[in-house]
Amino acid sequence: MLNDVLKNIVRADIQALKAYHVAETPTGCLKLDAMESPYSYSPQQQQELGALLGKAPINLYPDIAHHAFVPQLKIAHAIPSTADVVLGNGSDELIQILTMLVAKPNAKILGIEPTFVMYRHNAALYGLEYIGVDTKADLTLNIERVLTAIQTHQPALIWVSYPNNPTGTRYQREDVERIIQAATGLVVIDEAYGAFSSDSFLSQAGQPEHLLVLRTFSKIGYAGLRLGYLSGSPNILAELKKITPPYNMNHLSLTAAQYALTQQTWIDGNIQTLKAAREVMFAQLEDIETLHVFPSEGNFLTVRVPDATACIALFRQHHILIKNLDGMHPLLANCVRITIGQEEDNAKVLALLAQCGQ
Ligand SMILES: *Cc1c(COP(=O)(O)O)cnc(C)c1O
Repeated sequence: MLNDVLKNIVRADIQALKAYHVAETPTGCLKLDAMESPYSYSPQQQQELGALLGKAPINLYPDIAHHAFVPQLKIAHAIPSTADVVLGNGSDELIQILTMLVAKPNAKILGIEPTFVMYRHNAALYGLEYIGVDTKADLTLNIERVLTAIQTHQPALIWVSYPNNPTGTRYQREDVERIIQAATGLVVIDEAYGAFSSDSFLSQAGQPEHLLVLRTFSKIGYAGLRLGYLSGSPNILAELKKITPPYNMNHLSLTAAQYALTQQTWIDGNIQTLKAAREVMFAQLEDIETLHVFPSEGNFLTVRVPDATACIALFRQHHILIKNLDGMHPLLANCVRITIGQEEDNAKVLALLAQCGQ
């Protein structure tokens, strides 16, 4: 609680905000709550990375590393040559900067709910009205409702999480294209789970000009690096660069990301394994009548259980952390979200979920 002096100084709307809840990790728990990759580097990879990090000139500001990394990233991730790239300290930083970019008085931001909470949170930080348009009950897009909301509110910025967190739903491409066409402001396709998805807009970043694509290294094995990027039209990104903090990326994570680009075969193998495991788990969960599993193109599954709170507690007893989505949004009543893990962990998850269904 703030004392009276600080209460007068700190913005009242910030005092009223709830902090983004990052669950404390009890020791010895398996983390399947935050879409982290279960795979870490082999001793040889650790050694190679260590040698590179040791040599990084950390006495200097990181612009050399930055300038070396971006062209390599563009080639490795097949970012269109006509598009520009801005790096962020996690895509979370880019979500904040994008919100700041459009934060004019009375500007509105639109998101498709339920979705990533940071879109709404950042709109609130900049005093912008957030228009949340609900999906259908099956968590697929209600395109007519979105198009009506665009017409009514003329949002300066539209967020499309593709696939969506926390539901795993990948909306129909044709519907997203209609959103892009109807938009009078910027449209950001957040592809945090793009690597696990069957479709992507990355090759269209900047075409049309108001289409931006956001990506992150977090879900493919590098949550600890804090590296996200926004790809889009050079004209728009030039404006964004004006408000990006200078040297927001640090030399060590840029060096580690550069090394990550050389490990693409390893990363791709892990992604394939996780996608295959997701399909196996999906099929098995579909067979349990008391559960409802939603189709997912992310590295996680969202499941409706009879009692989410009891289910979370059961997992916790078995030292596994999963995410309780109940209470986040009415459409997520009694839903839990589980990151796909390694094979033996997934087997435990399936057994526990079957118990949750009883
Ligand atoms: C995880 C996630 C992010 C944030 O990623 P960072 O790069 O780790 O900040 C952004 N958008 C969505 C939809 C996510 O799920």
